Amino acid sequence: MQRSKGVNIKNLVKIYTGTTNGEFKAVDNISVDIKAGEFVTLLGPSGCGKTTTLRMVAGFEIPSSGEIYLGGDMINNLPPDKRDTAMVFQSYALFPHYNIYDNIAYGLKLKKMDKSVIKEKVNNIIDLVGLRGMENRYPNQLSGGQQQRVALARALVMEPGVLLFDEPLSNLDAKLRVYMRTEIRKIQKKVGITAIYVTHDQSEAMSLSDRIIIMNKGIIEQVGTPKEVYYTPQSEFVADFIGTANFLEATIKEVKGGKAILDLGGTIIDIKYNGDKGAGDRCKLVLRPEAIQIAKEGMLSSKVSLSTFMGSYQDYVVEVMGQEIKIQDNNPQGRETFKEGEEVKISFSALNVHII
Ligand code: ATP
Repeated sequence: MQRSKGVNIKNLVKIYTGTTNGEFKAVDNISVDIKAGEFVTLLGPSGCGKTTTLRMVAGFEIPSSGEIYLGGDMINNLPPDKRDTAMVFQSYALFPHYNIYDNIAYGLKLKKMDKSVIKEKVNNIIDLVGLRGMENRYPNQLSGGQQQRVALARALVMEPGVLLFDEPLSNLDAKLRVYMRTEIRKIQKKVGITAIYVTHDQSEAMSLSDRIIIMNKGIIEQVGTPKEVYYTPQSEFVADFIGTANFLEATIKEVKGGKAILDLGGTIIDIKYNGDKGAGDRCKLVLRPEAIQIAKEGMLSSKVSLSTFMGSYQDYVVEVMGQEIKIQDNNPQGRETFKEGEEVKISFSALNVHII
């Protein structure tokens, strides 16, 4: 049904002027290519520039420099209503005095479409988003989740080339957020529409996206699939922002054949590595808490400083070479657990660590 379009962002910059500190560069020369039909998330902490980027694609903000292409056409100079984009807002932005049917039909009526065509399109979308039976209700007679479905339907019915989401689930409670994000993903896949989604919630980004664009202070830190950004973060910022990360300092003894031989406080390990560092350089190993084993015997000596039973896992903090390491020991039932103050050893597989 959808003629989804790719989005190309080239050297995009947004400088806000007239702020208390003079000029402020909210988006600093970012470039990214989004394929037609792809679900891409702009993820980052508050103020990193993700909403500004989305609003420039929508046409609500004018870029200071750079270009935005939709389906290969430059759209910088087009007003929002001529861009073939539709936005789903955090606040839903529904018309309170229109019923659900009329809220969804609004954009099509503006386009002066034939009444029977409008009816068919609106009815199809009502089924797609699961609002059948609610057509005659008013927004204040719907729950938050249902209102967000109306907002989604209203955007989808326009059959835009790309659908833009600005933190659409922020006003919902935690359980509904999780449910609605799977609904959004299901609907997006069914329709095959390109989607750009802004969030600061990493689990939302992981569960929704084909690829995640991680932003920090106006720049792109990394673009990758959820697995790529989780397992091979390219910076400490990304490793820390996506999930929980431990960083262990090490010295590189040698780099050869796609591997680095590391000295980890006297323990020698070799790890897959294709980066720029060489012999003698310091580096950091990124270790996920669930990829570390704790036992009486193992690779590195450590001491338990915190041990907490969490039900599905035992949560540890241990001290290794003067550094604190978090460990998530899953499904501890029936196995030995360790107490604060105990001397233990930790181990990990070279396959589960990544050098930055
Ligand atoms: P949040 O999750 O808090 O919405 P964000 O990553 O979406 O954050 P933006 O809204 O894109 O961030 O804002 C990026 C930076 O630009 C922030 O520091 C913000 O204060 C600033 N900014 C945004 N809009 C304006 C404006 N109209 N005038 C001046 N500065 C602005």
